[in-house]
Amino acid sequence: MYVTHDFTICFDETQYIAQVGGSLSNLLARPNVRASWVAALDDARRLLRPAAAWDTFAIKEFRHERLVLANGTRIGGGPVASVVAGASELAVGVCTVDGAISSRATVLQAEGQRLRAMFLDDLGSWAVDQVRQQLCRGIEAAAKGRGWRASASLSPGESEWSVSEQSVIFGLLDTQPIGVVLTESLVMSPIKSLSLIVGLGPGPLGVEGASNCDFCTIRERCNYRRLRTMQTGEQ
Ligand code: SF4
Repeated sequence: MYVTHDFTICFDETQYIAQVGGSLSNLLARPNVRASWVAALDDARRLLRPAAAWDTFAIKEFRHERLVLANGTRIGGGPVASVVAGASELAVGVCTVDGAISSRATVLQAEGQRLRAMFLDDLGSWAVDQVRQQLCRGIEAAAKGRGWRASASLSPGESEWSVSEQSVIFGLLDTQPIGVVLTESLVMSPIKSLSLIVGLGPGPLGVEGASNCDFCTIRERCNYRRLRTMQTGEQ
């Protein structure tokens, strides 16, 4: 299993304003709003602890819409089998920015600093998405180094792939080194965490080059998708 903390998180104010809309630009001209924004940025940069754990697992066979791994684990449903079709291995990962951001946002809420708390919560979500993108690029680069290809990534619950499969992912990975656990209600703790899979193989794969957003059921109303598009040039 691989564990890495080597991520670069970038909070570009212009991108954030662009995705929220023109009203934020006007609001940030107000001294109290700008002070909350600057304080939230300081909090986020101080409290972020990006980390990811991931590993690869040999695929034994594709059985209808599910994969059977060499270790006997069954995983899939929704678009999984079609996206990773042709893969020989499945990369499975969990990433996080740690729980300090959410804890701080909760304290700020309780203190009545709601705007600063909202900005901080937003920055935490943006940060963990950046970790995810960089983890996927790392998995792709490792595959390329072997002369292999990588499929689009998918996360349980984002698409028609059931969120109940979080338990399969956590059964495959030891996430203790990055401090992430799966609760009984299948929610990851810290909340600013994400899990994902990527298909790997020497030949063409079901879907390559697409974003996980392309399979997401809320893509048309997601602000983070717009942020990601601005940051990476994805469509
Ligand atoms: S559309 Fe939004 S919620 Fe869905 S995968 Fe993309 S960033 Fe995540």
